[in-house]
Amino acid sequence: MRLILLGPPGSGKGTQANLLQDKFNIPKISTGDILRAAVKDNTDLGKQAKRFMEQGELVPDEIVIGLIKERIVAPDCEAGYILDGFPRTILQAEKLEETLAAMDQEIDSVVDLEVDPEELLVRLIGRSTCKNCGAMFHQTSHPPKVAGVCDECGGELYQRPDDNEETIVKRLEVYNKETAPLKDFYREQGKLKSVQGCGGMGDIFSKLCDLVT
Ligand code: ADP
Ligand code: ZN
Repeated sequence: MRLILLGPPGSGKGTQANLLQDKFNIPKISTGDILRAAVKDNTDLGKQAKRFMEQGELVPDEIVIGLIKERIVAPDCEAGYILDGFPRTILQAEKLEETLAAMDQEIDSVVDLEVDPEELLVRLIGRSTCKNCGAMFHQTSHPPKVAGVCDECGGELYQRPDDNEETIVKRLEVYNKETAPLKDFYREQGKLKSVQGCGGMGDIFSKLCDLVT
């Protein structure tokens, strides 16, 4: 099963992708996670990506396309994968199509997580992530039992540097301009499915599973 999760920053793509990978035993491929790891390790890729990410801008297409091309041919991707945060531009989507076609593969479903814009801001401003296992928390809607500590693994929680109001507003603008057009792109292929991204993460997950299986 090859899935794409679409949806604006804060729509819960990462959370749902984590749940999907556990349920279906296929890897989640998050370009945001790959890029953040590269920035942390200060690799060449990280050095190139950092300034774009800090500004809430997209990292150039050729960089992320290269990353994905390398990643989806790994042995653990044979049974499928969940793309989280890719594609994000029409060009990325077209290159993905080309790459898959050359491998005689295609995307099965594209799920769009729909959330009100005002709700997105609230969610992003209060969120934190576990450094160790990637579990996600929120100050008000899903606080950890102990402040700053992951409920799942005891790891340390951190706030993403791009989760400040100014950068969040920029990321939402970039989403509307560059990424939202992908909905039409995949609708025309008959692959687009929409899920309301408000409500409990378990409810959203079961709706999502019904749509993709
Ligand atoms: P969110 O969906 O919350 O904005 P991500 O973790 O998916 O977060 O992405 C964080 C940042 O990483 C983006 O703002 C962008 O700079 C960069 N990035 C991630 N994926 C892509 C992509 N497919 N194309 C270009 N830039 C990307
Ligand atoms: Zn953890």
